Amino acid sequence: MGSRAGIVVTGTEVLTGRVADRNGPWLAEELRQAGVDISNIVVVGDRPEDLRASIEFLIGSGVDLIVTSGGLGPTADDLTAEVVAGVQGRAFALDEALAAEVAAIVDRLSAGRGWGATPEATAAANRKQAMVPFGAAVLAPVGTAPGLVVPAPDGTVGPPVVVLPGPPRELQGMWPAALAHPLVQAALAGRAELRQSTLRIWGTPEQTIAATLREHDAILGGLEITTCLRDAELEVVTRYAPSAQPAYDALVSVIREEYAERAYSLDGRTVDEIVATALISRGATIGTAEALAGATVVGRMLDRPGASKYLRGGVIPYANAPKRELLGLTDELMKSVGSVSAEAAEALAEGARSALHTDVGVGITGMAGPVGSTLKPVGLVYICVVGDGAAADPTTGARVVLAREINLPGSRTDIGARAVAIAMHMIRELLVR
Ligand code: ATP
Ligand code: MG
Repeated sequence: MGSRAGIVVTGTEVLTGRVADRNGPWLAEELRQAGVDISNIVVVGDRPEDLRASIEFLIGSGVDLIVTSGGLGPTADDLTAEVVAGVQGRAFALDEALAAEVAAIVDRLSAGRGWGATPEATAAANRKQAMVPFGAAVLAPVGTAPGLVVPAPDGTVGPPVVVLPGPPRELQGMWPAALAHPLVQAALAGRAELRQSTLRIWGTPEQTIAATLREHDAILGGLEITTCLRDAELEVVTRYAPSAQPAYDALVSVIREEYAERAYSLDGRTVDEIVATALISRGATIGTAEALAGATVVGRMLDRPGASKYLRGGVIPYANAPKRELLGLTDELMKSVGSVSAEAAEALAEGARSALHTDVGVGITGMAGPVGSTLKPVGLVYICVVGDGAAADPTTGARVVLAREINLPGSRTDIGARAVAIAMHMIRELLVR
């Protein structure tokens, strides 16, 4: 059995959901890469007794290392260092040299900006950040707050507590020094390499994969498999020791055989990566026309660095006039079948292609709610993906049209997100054939 660690994320803003936790998951992944298993991520508010109880709980659960995030700053609600000193049975004292170092950083950062704090207040804040538990190691500040490695009480065996600042950039900047620290390395001496691989399957319910895994249970020993369904995409994440590599290879074969092209990623690449790579390798460009609230393909594509190699843009028409004026939808079409129809989706895809001069055109139209009609209920969505030129059928050179009509459940945001996911997979199907 390898080493295990627990993480304590502090901050009332994280506990209440005002700030989404970016430190717990980040630390968990870093620790996993270092061969350390995570027992818990505990989120706790800025209350000393709750923080103390969380750390004691993790010590009691037998972890080899505890990492905390947040509460290292100069304000009164920043109390992690003091609480950890208490738990580890260590006196808490001012480190004069460190106080001078913090003061120098604060001077440099605030130079000329007139932060308005009195010299006394600044000095008190600097001193607070330079309070160090007796026998603890100091990690050099990335922002203003130093980190700490606080060993178990003298004469006892227990996990050291690594105390890191809350701002993700500071925590991430300090982590390499924390991990490399001899006290941390000693605590993790028992760790073993832990591999993690991801498979992605499209359009398969979770129960189906559960049945597949049950059926092949006998050959999958040593694998810790978790499945997660998101927007009809099934992500299968497996963790295993190197000795279980043959079992993992067997899992990949089973999935490849039973799911064929629905198992669209055997190496963990996301649909976004696959689509981007395919567009680049075919030298094709893409543009969209999206008349559905909630989410957009163009927005998702814009999030990828390097998208300018293939993405020409998107038109987001909401009223009928821009559908006509920018994308060429005719009044006849909108009056006869309506702008939520298969015909409109194809006209949008073609409209995007010609307005944006691209090889691939994506057209989306639908009812995202909250109000629908009997003929066009909320959740009814039409998606059309058209490929020509560099995205035409590679063998025949013919224009390719993929079209779908779908009824999606959920809120406006759910419907938008799901439609975008389906469109991404249709683009993948168009390009990877
Ligand atoms: P500071 O010196 O800035 O007070 P700190 O170490 O005391 O640093 P916190 O006060 O806990 O850290 O958090 C400072 C800010 O960092 C928070 O307001 C928040 O914006 C961000 N932050 C803290 N913890 C997290 C977290 N787990 N995930 C994302 N952001 C966080
Ligand atoms: Mg703070």
